[in-house]
Amino acid sequence: MAQQLADRRDIDFVIWEQFNGEAYLKAGDYAEFNRKTCDMIINEARSLAIKEIFPTLSESDTVGVKFENGTVTVPETFPPLYKLILEGEWNNLMVSPEMGGQGAPPFISAAATEYFMAANWALFTYATLGCSTAGMIYRHGTEEMKKKYVPKLVSGEWGGTMLLTEPQAGTDVGAIETSAVKNEDGTYSITGNKIFITNGEHNLTENIIHPVLARIEGHEPGTRGISIFIVPKYLVNDDGTIGERNDIVCTGVEEKQGIHASATCSMSLGSKGKCIGYLLGQEKQGMKIMFEMMNEARMATGLQAMSYASAAYLIAVNYARERIQSRDILEFKNHAAPSVPIIKHPDVRRNLLWMKALVDGMRSFFYYTGIIGTRSELAEDEEERRVNLGMFSLLTPLIKEYLAAKGYEVCVQAIQVLGGSGYIKEYLVEQYTRDCKITTIYEGCSGVQAMDLLARKLPSDGGKVFGAFLSDIKKTVADAKKIENLAAMAERVEKAADRLGEVAMHLGGMAMEGKIKEAFAHSLPFLHAMGDVIIAWMLLWRASVAAPKIEGAKKSDAAFYEGQVKTAEFFINTSLYQTFGAFDSIKAACAAAIEIPDDGFGGL
Ligand SMILES: Cc1cc2nc3c(=O)[nH]c(=O)nc-3n(C[C@H](O)[C@H](O)[C@H](O)COP(=O)(O)OP(=O)(O)OC[C@H]3O[C@@H](n4cnc5c(N)ncnc54)[C@H](O)[C@@H]3O)c2cc1C
Repeated sequence: MAQQLADRRDIDFVIWEQFNGEAYLKAGDYAEFNRKTCDMIINEARSLAIKEIFPTLSESDTVGVKFENGTVTVPETFPPLYKLILEGEWNNLMVSPEMGGQGAPPFISAAATEYFMAANWALFTYATLGCSTAGMIYRHGTEEMKKKYVPKLVSGEWGGTMLLTEPQAGTDVGAIETSAVKNEDGTYSITGNKIFITNGEHNLTENIIHPVLARIEGHEPGTRGISIFIVPKYLVNDDGTIGERNDIVCTGVEEKQGIHASATCSMSLGSKGKCIGYLLGQEKQGMKIMFEMMNEARMATGLQAMSYASAAYLIAVNYARERIQSRDILEFKNHAAPSVPIIKHPDVRRNLLWMKALVDGMRSFFYYTGIIGTRSELAEDEEERRVNLGMFSLLTPLIKEYLAAKGYEVCVQAIQVLGGSGYIKEYLVEQYTRDCKITTIYEGCSGVQAMDLLARKLPSDGGKVFGAFLSDIKKTVADAKKIENLAAMAERVEKAADRLGEVAMHLGGMAMEGKIKEAFAHSLPFLHAMGDVIIAWMLLWRASVAAPKIEGAKKSDAAFYEGQVKTAEFFINTSLYQTFGAFDSIKAACAAAIEIPDDGFGGL
């Protein structure tokens, strides 16, 4: 079967049936979008992704990027495809029309992006990072900056980046040493070294606009003293034409486990004392401004992992339908019985259904969070804006970490379903697995997301946002309880939500009692358990929509809807038991990880 990358039937179900996309379009500011145009956009994205971009995936992994004399060359298949992406304006689908983008609803952008990311994330990201840079400039730049940079970044003519990390400053961004000194003309001279910079240098665009974190000389240490500067690779003349080469150079690219076609660059700024930067926003606002971009990037990272997982799952399930191996278990004594496709074996079915539950649940969770995010932007009522913004911020670390961690696990299990064929390159699941691993690391490692959830997001607004989140789950539970064969599942999800609330309070209490390290030692298991509850919620929601439609549906739809009910049943009646165990273990608050002496870890 030809590669599908994402399940189109499922995408349609989520958008139009689960989240009632047509009502959302009517209520929002989307005059140019209706069901027909949305379908067309997704179809075109899918066709470009599958027919043109996906065939480059394996080769670009083998070829990678080439570094020579400060320049980085991307695989030779990329430039014509980059042009196609820009011609279709696929890079700025969700960017607002005021900035020069398409202003598409979040679920349409998510659907198209799923296809592009699974087809070749590295290529697509060269085209999209500039829009995030443009967003920061649009919100915080001077009129002159907006005019000079935003149109070319949004069109993809110029590339964008984000320069935070330094050798001594990874998670601890406050430890950066890159410095800025104000010049008489109001510009700044920047000096420092950045590492691990995605798309820091490449040959796809004539200019690259770098947002750079640096500390103005004399400003306090830590994150409070950090400012943000726009540092173009080529300075831009007042008439918008390209000017002199700025003193920012790529000094090397990293060899990595995956995403080989994405340039991960070391950057030297001001080695000749001539790196010019332009202050963005006010002095010392660097972290606040960069965090806006980081939050977008965290959402994109969750989607990246989900896209790999979805593609890997589809490879696995279609392989399982075709690979003939062993007799049916009920025929184990009958040596004359024919061998069957491996999808008939109970253990393979269990594995596939576990993968499907996660992929479906993650897709619904991502699309739902995107809708919440735009609701906060579009809300006219202040209270509605506050609630939606709070919810979006609560869910962001979960999108980033849970989708990354589970997306990776799904890819690993795809290898397992294919057996030896999964371990070799031909079927791509090993590449998806390698490519996926980075998603738990960049844009803030797993532990950092868990700390953010526990320390900042759960207590936000006096716990009201978390309370509203639990109430939303209860609404779905109440609807599901009215459907006869879903009532028992709904009760289990309700119990899981209650337990989630109780364990969150318990962790908060531990921190208040001064057992801060003990609480944080359990923060990541807590995040993952909360993610499980969200998946159970999303699958129950899907089942509630699907169950009443089974009877009378045409055969393929009936199988799809029944699949929804069985997927929810599987996750809620098997995986969620492990989540209750996880809650017990978090509440038991074992302190061994804190108490063990450093030397007790061994290896000395
Ligand atoms: C392929 C790739 C692309 C990247 N792209 C970019 C980019 O475009 N721009 C950019 O600026 N950076 C980029 N990065 C850098 C990336 O964001 C960092 O690697 C990441 O933030 C982690 O920093 P670190 O590698 O220094 O690890 P460290 O900070 O040394 O962390 C190591 C481990 O310690 C844990 N840890 C550290 N501090 C704490 C703490 N306080 N509490 C709990 N646990 C903690 C971490 O969770 C992690 O598991 C990229 C990295 C890679 C590999």
